Amino acid sequence: MDAEIIAVGSELLTPFRLDTNSLFLTSKLNSLGIEVRFKTVVGDDPVPLAEAFGTALKRSRLIILTGGLGPTEDDRTREVVSEVLGRPLHENEEIRARIEKRYKRLNREMPPNNLRQALVPEGADWLENNNGTAPGIWMEHDGIIILLLPGPPWELEAMFDSLGMARLACVAGNERIRSRVYKVVGLPESEVDHRIAPLYRPYQNPTTTILACPGAIEVHLRARAASESEGDALLDDLGDKIEMALGDHVFSARGESLEEVVGIYLVMKQQTLAVAESCTGGLLSERLTRIPGSSDFFLGGVVCYSNKLKTKLAGVPADWIEQHGAVSGVVAQAMSEGIRKRAGASLGVGVTGIAGPGGGLVEKPVGLVFIGLSDSRSTTVRQFQFPGTRERIRQWASQMALEMIRRKVRE
Ligand code: ATP
Repeated sequence: MDAEIIAVGSELLTPFRLDTNSLFLTSKLNSLGIEVRFKTVVGDDPVPLAEAFGTALKRSRLIILTGGLGPTEDDRTREVVSEVLGRPLHENEEIRARIEKRYKRLNREMPPNNLRQALVPEGADWLENNNGTAPGIWMEHDGIIILLLPGPPWELEAMFDSLGMARLACVAGNERIRSRVYKVVGLPESEVDHRIAPLYRPYQNPTTTILACPGAIEVHLRARAASESEGDALLDDLGDKIEMALGDHVFSARGESLEEVVGIYLVMKQQTLAVAESCTGGLLSERLTRIPGSSDFFLGGVVCYSNKLKTKLAGVPADWIEQHGAVSGVVAQAMSEGIRKRAGASLGVGVTGIAGPGGGLVEKPVGLVFIGLSDSRSTTVRQFQFPGTRERIRQWASQMALEMIRRKVRE
């Protein structure tokens, strides 16, 4: 069974709101073996909404509309669906009683327009909303399933999980979609594709998609099968070959972020980490502390932006800075060693660079970053030239620092 999602809401056509409901729904539908073939975002305007719904009726067996079920005049989904299908709206006593009860419980006067939410197209079922007033609607029409869900994500998600999934599972058939993501660091997209295209090309199932993300490449596999275990076996078959071809550039096959993987290794090896950051301004520390339980391996860090603080907080000799400049290999080295000793950590990292857009020189251009990594025996310094905006350069720098730690701790 293929599905189509129509996200209704004028705010979703502005730069300020993103349609995230369809991402949630797609993931849930895929887990039932249902593929989403089309997605539309349409404003709270009955004419384009009727057009989008009419088109969906011609091509999809499952249509999910989200949003526009509220009590106000601009919430038109219910009316448009009823008009297009020629199934008039009737007030549902049970919904009306529930809305009235909800207001009584909250000790508030119910505005009369709330009763619009008790209107249901002829012959449709309604789905209870435990987190708001707008109920969902489930209806079948000429063999097509039509599902109307409220717009607020917390209402939609709870309703879909508790009621939508079970109903759809009964009609979805037995096919399952399984997916896996291999995350790759340290290889450009073209090299990843060059290595794995001969492996995935012969396969129709699973399908393979390569996506470039900041500082990483993701290889997405999707398999359709009669059962979850059969789908996983298909993923293993191709996935193992891909993993072999990409070697230790693959840092995750279960969805973990690079910082999570680094955390797992550090805990496993019982090692601790401290960082001294200049151009990343705390981004590395932020990424590391995003992981629950990071206090088991991350001792802390300093943001030492000025030369003075590089000396004061990370122990970088002032004359080294004067001699080589703050953005230099020796300063990155001294930052990593200084912070490691001061914090009493197993590993120390120092990051210094030019994030731009200003401040670049011919011999030290924007994007030049030095990363030092030290343990009690030695210090490694790597020099990078990252492309892009200030934000991308900082992201790349934090990513490569994590990658250096990952490789070190795996040794
Ligand atoms: P109600 O009016 O009762 O809140 P509704 O079904 O009419 O419910 P909307 O008014 O369309 O829902 O949207 C309510 C909130 O949910 C808004 O903040 C809106 O931005 C958000 N929302 C709506 N649709 C989506 C979507 N597809 N993805 C993410 N957020 C959404």
